[in-house]
Amino acid sequence: MKKKLQERLYELFPNLYRGRNLSITESLIPLGVDTGNGWFDLIKKLSEDITKISPETEAVQVKEKFGGLRFYVVNATDEVYKLIDKAEDESFKICEKCGSRENVATGYGSWVFTLCDKCWDNKRNNPNWRIWEEDE
Ligand SMILES: [Zn+2]
Repeated sequence: MKKKLQERLYELFPNLYRGRNLSITESLIPLGVDTGNGWFDLIKKLSEDITKISPETEAVQVKEKFGGLRFYVVNATDEVYKLIDKAEDESFKICEKCGSRENVATGYGSWVFTLCDKCWDNKRNNPNWRIWEEDE
């Protein structure tokens, strides 16, 4: 996810992402939110819900794996894990690149992505395609 969006999450939820200034031996959060920009709203909503019900919870890693969101936390309650499961399931219905919920499919290749039809076309037609660019 591009820096500007990551910073937005850190600003909105400083407590949840309180490891952001730690070294990467202590938390993987300093590496950033390692997903496409299309999941920003999903991650924002999840962060909001977690913060509301469990202020003790801390996010330690956020990334994409096998086409789905992975949201790792410590000090979480069962309720928090339920929210995370729900958001991780939902990520398979949202284009990781552009955020569209239409014609989204998870495809398997050298790297697994969950993308909408349009983004799959762009990816096929552009050898330099990447899940996100700093300047987009
Ligand atoms: Zn898309």
